[in-house]
Amino acid sequence: MDSELYEQVDPLIDDVADQIGELIDGDQLAVLKAKLAEICGCLPGEFSASLDISLRITDPEGLTLPLLQTGMTSFDGTEPQQVWGDSTPQDYVVFGDVVVVPNDYCPQCWAEWRFKQRNPKCPGCGLQLGREVKILLDSGICPHCERGTVSAGNPVCVECNNRVNLDYVVWG
Ligand SMILES: [Zn+2]
Ligand SMILES: [Zn+2]
Repeated sequence: MDSELYEQVDPLIDDVADQIGELIDGDQLAVLKAKLAEICGCLPGEFSASLDISLRITDPEGLTLPLLQTGMTSFDGTEPQQVWGDSTPQDYVVFGDVVVVPNDYCPQCWAEWRFKQRNPKCPGCGLQLGREVKILLDSGICPHCERGTVSAGNPVCVECNNRVNLDYVVWG
């Protein structure tokens, strides 16, 4: 996988995500939803049951990249709700170039690289966050929770309380 291929398929993945969202919102999966709630209803309280849908791309070397992970989860036998587990695209600046890869991956070698701010060195190629690579915060969306906003003047996210390490980011 490289970022050019990724940028080509990403809009199509979004279409698939929209379709699945409509399917889960609609009535077509009513029988499955009822079964899922029934399964969950057989379990003790605080258990949950999930039905997952994922879209993965596997390269000729057998490396698999999950680009979409969603599905339905029922808690305590309630009506199943849609849940998302996929990682969204993130912009990075690598040796001066802007590269877009899924959030949990390395923008250079595509190794899985989660929680970059806590583990600032790529486990695959040793790329160092804050040195060779920085997170490009174009929109000011918090890279941790993707819900709140952060800025150079206010680096603590109001949603998740995570502080953005200013050595690790560049502003678009
Ligand atoms: Zn790497
Ligand atoms: Zn946040």
